[in-house]
Order: sequence, then C-alpha cells, then structure tokens
Amino acid sequence: MEKSRLEKLAEKFRFNDYETIVCNSKQEAKNILLEICKNKNVGIGDSHSVEDLCSFEDFKKQTNNLYAMGIDKSMPNRKKCLTADVFILSANAVAEDTGEMVNIDSSCNRVAPSLFGPSEVIFVIGVNKIEKDLISAINRVRNYVAPINAKSHNYPTPCTKLNKCSNCSMKERICRATVIYHKRPKKTPTKIILVNENLGW
Ligand code: SF4
Repeated sequence: MEKSRLEKLAEKFRFNDYETIVCNSKQEAKNILLEICKNKNVGIGDSHSVEDLCSFEDFKKQTNNLYAMGIDKSMPNRKKCLTADVFILSANAVAEDTGEMVNIDSSCNRVAPSLFGPSEVIFVIGVNKIEKDLISAINRVRNYVAPINAKSHNYPTPCTKLNKCSNCSMKERICRATVIYHKRPKKTPTKIILVNENLGW
C-alpha cells in the first residue's frame, strides 16, 4: 500500500488516542514487538497475524513468561492474559476512514484483555485488514474472517459452506461478541503496530 495512505490511517489511529507505529516490513515490526516484550509477562490472543510475524520460540527467548493461546488454551492461561504486562492481538478489520477497529470473538478471551486488565495492549495489523469504512469492516469479519475461522475448527456452521454469514444460532457459532474500538479504552495504554504487508487473514 502507498506509504502516504498508511500514514493517513496512522493519523486516524493517533486521533483515536492510540500510539501508532508504521512499519514497512514484517522484520521491522518483529524487532519492535520483541523489544516491547523483553523480560515481560506476555499474553498472546489466538492470532494468525502475530504468528505470521514472530514464532513462539522467539517470544519465549525474550519474555519472562509467555501465555500464548496458540500453545495453551487452558482456562488458567486465558486468565493470565487478563493481567499480563503485555497483551498482543490483531484486529479482524479496520475502517480506513475513521481508524475504528473490529474484532469478533467466541470465548472472548481475546477481546476481554484487549479492553482492560493488561498493563499494555499491542495490536499488530497488516494492510490486508484495511476496509474503506466501518460497515465494510464488519462485513469483512462476518463474511470473510468468521467463515475461515469456523472452517479451521471444522465447525458445521452454515458459513463454512456458503462463505458468508447467515446469522446462525448453532452451538458452534463463533460470532458471540462484536467489539468496535472507537477510541482507546481510557485506562489501557495501547499501541498499534501497522505493517505494510499482509498478516493473518
Ligand atoms: S454467525 Fe454463524 S454463520 Fe454467521 S459467521 Fe458466525 S458462525 Fe458463521
């Protein structure tokens, strides 16, 4: 994506009270992320974006303790994320015109610590998550991200066949809360690392 377009989005994030860093490459973002995590207790939500950027081995070498959902989804590990020094996740989609972010969650142990609890929250976001506005961002999550996620779990929800949401009520429904981040939650220091490459889906 053109650098100027990315910088404009970063300005929207800053206007929404998020400290924002723009990175040209995954490597640049990885270096920044690992430096932030140094000697800290770090939680990582289930995030293909974060896994695209940095291996759990790299995180383990750098951190005091690592509570990564990609390694251990136990309830004690989920709860440790709520009070971690640093909690890392991505956004399922971003609205380019306002800098709002959208996440849809099932167990909600990803969105809960993104709002309150950890000493610091870091969003890592690739350019593939950017949509023109909030409606398009929500549409991306319901009709693109959620069906892929449901498929990855082998759930029998209708979206796995239709590749779009039909607002199901199945027990396997993964869309149980939609969080729209209008502005940084007041008590939660939050950084956004915006990367000029695709990350996750
Ligand atoms: S509400 Fe149901 S059908 Fe719609 S995306 Fe979520 S899991 Fe799939």
